[in-house]
Amino acid sequence: MLYISTRGQAPELTFEEAMLSGLARDGGLYVPKTIPHLSEAEITAMAGLSYEETAFRVMRPFIDQSFSDAVLGDLISKAYAQFGHGARAPLVQLAPNHFLLELFHGPTLAFKDFAMQLIGQLFQNALTRRNERVTIVGATSGDTGSAAIEAFRGLDNVDVFILYPHGRVSEVQRRQMTTPSESNVHALAVDGTFDDCQARLKDMFNDFPFRDEVRLAGVNSINWARVLAQVVYYFSSAVSLGAPKRKISFTIPTGNFGDIFAGYIAKQMGLPIDRLIVATNQNDILHRCLSTGGYQTTDVHPSVSPSMDIQVSSNFERALFDAYDRDGGAVAHLMSDLSEGGFHVSPEALQALRAHFDSGRVGEDETLHQIAASHSTMGELLCPHSAIGVKVAEDLRDPATPMITLATAHPAKFPDAVENASGIRPPLPHRMADLYERSERVTRVANDLGTLEDLIRERRAK
Ligand SMILES: *Cc1c(COP(=O)(O)O)cnc(C)c1O
Repeated sequence: MLYISTRGQAPELTFEEAMLSGLARDGGLYVPKTIPHLSEAEITAMAGLSYEETAFRVMRPFIDQSFSDAVLGDLISKAYAQFGHGARAPLVQLAPNHFLLELFHGPTLAFKDFAMQLIGQLFQNALTRRNERVTIVGATSGDTGSAAIEAFRGLDNVDVFILYPHGRVSEVQRRQMTTPSESNVHALAVDGTFDDCQARLKDMFNDFPFRDEVRLAGVNSINWARVLAQVVYYFSSAVSLGAPKRKISFTIPTGNFGDIFAGYIAKQMGLPIDRLIVATNQNDILHRCLSTGGYQTTDVHPSVSPSMDIQVSSNFERALFDAYDRDGGAVAHLMSDLSEGGFHVSPEALQALRAHFDSGRVGEDETLHQIAASHSTMGELLCPHSAIGVKVAEDLRDPATPMITLATAHPAKFPDAVENASGIRPPLPHRMADLYERSERVTRVANDLGTLEDLIRERRAK
């Protein structure tokens, strides 16, 4: 299986190479050249399997033999061994034909652990085999960074630097990034927004001398290996509810379009998904784009669901690539217009997007209201992101088709918003109850490329 860039100008890479590099050298994102198909019989045969076994069957066709079957199986087992639930991604019922997929039983209490724990294992195995060392730099609105630090802390072949927007992440998120004591972990609080962090990260990847000097690797949601790991729970959950015999729909709280793009891949592979519904907060560029075709960036307005406070949705580029019939030149053109403020999706491409995706937007008051309502009527205490998903799903779903809403974080990761909405302060799971007592280590840094690059050069192990 080879991977190609959404902008058509970068070399084709293997899975391992695409994983280790992250962003393509033409600024694009790697996607599989073709999407493997699973037959109805193969999907039916997933019923009753463990999460790990399902993961193996879903991911194997995308991954070259540099990871043998035995090694891949072993790395998958290690990745999910730390999870606090035997099903890894359990389903609970909210209402008739509406289900919640709990993706928050990993070590940092958000769905990012599903991909990051596996990527940590894959990186370690590949780098050891190749006798190489990399510098991982990530930008985070809170959850990616904590998941990356948790997955890479203490690994021999990796330094990990995480850029987060100073003052704009929750205390739990911040502490998960600043309390690990391993010397290969570096939390950087940037004076700016998440989009600034993401922009500086892209700048570093486009600075080829720097990129090569430090062997830069990216584990943001643009990394194909992360998308792939997230495809698995679409299969495991849909099969639990009767797929492939029944069609299933999903609602996904999203900003960067990563998690929902994984659902789109599951659908391409043959999983009978009916609708994939984007749920955004007030930072609603995806909802506006799917409604009108206009993709115009505006300022980011901090919300109670900070992990979706995003205006440039990186993974949307992958969806555009398919909507434009995989024309890399067309995508490169759109992305250059984006740096001038925005673009309009062509009518044909918009139609192609709407064939798979619907969307809804939830404001701040409605989010808090939904947290309270879900607690009183469904008995579920939701994090703000998950509440946005549940609200959009309730508004848009077809009652005859099972709906699965993705619960992207544990409510205890956002205790202030949850308490404000419901009157209940969700406690941290026992295994991380001492988080508030651990000492923190963080560097505050200006939103400036040169400053960041110097810091990374200086701090990384040589
Ligand atoms: C990252 C994150 C999201 C958004 O994920 P996308 O990659 O933008 O789809 C939603 N909720 C939580 C809790 C997150 O951590």
